[in-house]
Amino acid sequence: MSAYPWLARHVLAPTLDTLRGTRTMQRMGELEQLQWWPASRIREAQAQRLQRLISRSYECVPFYRRLMDERGIRPGDIRSPDDLACLPALTKNTIRAHLEDLLVRDVPRERLRSGRSGGTTGERLDYYSTREERLTFAHARWLLSLEWSGAQFGETHLSIRQMTAGTSGRETRMLHRASLRLQRLERIDTMRVTEENLPALVSLIQRTKPRSLFAYPSALALIASYARDHDLSCPTVHAVCVGGERLQDRQRAVLQQVFGSEPCIRYGSNELHSVAAQCEAHGGLHIHADDFIIEVVDDDGNLLSPGTRGRLLVTSLHNHGMPFIRYETGDIGALLPGACPCGRGLPLLVPLIGRTAERVYGANGRCADAMDLDIGRALPPGVVNYQLVQETVDRFVLSVVPAAGNEGNSWDPVPGRVADMITSATGSRPRIDLHLVDSIAMNLSGKRLPFISHVYPATSRAERDRR
Ligand SMILES: [Zn+2]
Repeated sequence: MSAYPWLARHVLAPTLDTLRGTRTMQRMGELEQLQWWPASRIREAQAQRLQRLISRSYECVPFYRRLMDERGIRPGDIRSPDDLACLPALTKNTIRAHLEDLLVRDVPRERLRSGRSGGTTGERLDYYSTREERLTFAHARWLLSLEWSGAQFGETHLSIRQMTAGTSGRETRMLHRASLRLQRLERIDTMRVTEENLPALVSLIQRTKPRSLFAYPSALALIASYARDHDLSCPTVHAVCVGGERLQDRQRAVLQQVFGSEPCIRYGSNELHSVAAQCEAHGGLHIHADDFIIEVVDDDGNLLSPGTRGRLLVTSLHNHGMPFIRYETGDIGALLPGACPCGRGLPLLVPLIGRTAERVYGANGRCADAMDLDIGRALPPGVVNYQLVQETVDRFVLSVVPAAGNEGNSWDPVPGRVADMITSATGSRPRIDLHLVDSIAMNLSGKRLPFISHVYPATSRAERDRR
């Protein structure tokens, strides 16, 4: 085994921390210990961090000072995650409307780091965080997730993700490049994962032989499908990590076939970074509970118990520059009751995570979560990708990209099968128009969404406003 990962972890990275005034590796060591604490001790630490966040938000963030004063809430009223429900959810529209008032007053703006999220639904979101949150806390979480997937700091890692806009000085950029190099981390913008670039991307994987890979499932499955269909052999990748989209069964199958390992699912976002990830047991996603509280609520904001699916509200315990308290991410999921067989005390999230925007509506007014429709089962083998678009309450367009040589498959039964699925979910039978296409377009975030809705019944205006 190469000595480089040890050198990178214990000598080079701590030196870089000293040079740039961060404590990523120290924090990584803390997280490695904390993950094995009993759940009760983790909850106590979480409550302490929450009290500090609430107190500081009240003192230094105009939005929260006004909100809590209007509701007669004192910082001491919120002592544990159970008390958070007295505050409303923080929606993306609220952030857009009150961005200035959401910034902490006692840190100069130039010391905060800006970011811009592409937004899965196509709407931009500007946000800020502290340098410490990004370079120490978020990076340490990412490193821990990497360990859970079976790779180590300093082993070659290829990350294919959305490159977000941000501001940083020349010195910061130089240290950032040094950090990437010592981690042997190569980053590719997911917008480069286009059909014409697939040969070059397969060749990059063959050349770099990464120990670990991260990408959106749709992007990585596209690369893997190209390699498989063109008989291009890829090296075994020990840790195949996917996030940002729901992993479909057919994507899991092609990733396993081409890269030789079971994919690890992660959950996070540009504005929150890594929030939860699967460990080597490949069960529920461990929530980074020293950094986040996750609540699950129904459409009316009522808390739901573990095992029941609803909207995810995430509180980030370390971003004191722009607090995300009960942040409505636009995702739907559930907490997983019980403990992981690995023995870690961190709470769990069900791996199946969808989007609130992914709802199928029937002409009768009933709706269903698109994540419950297993469209892949309605398709014959040999499909690279698909996308279902609800154009009206009674008409859908299904675009399918057949794998090379599969264009002549029997596609006739597909519209009927998809219509059956939607009928059983909503009670109303739509028309399905099937199109065989060469590719599915990426959205602003570089994702190829399996489902898009152009239908927003009047009754769901509140839901639309929440995005
Ligand atoms: Zn585990």
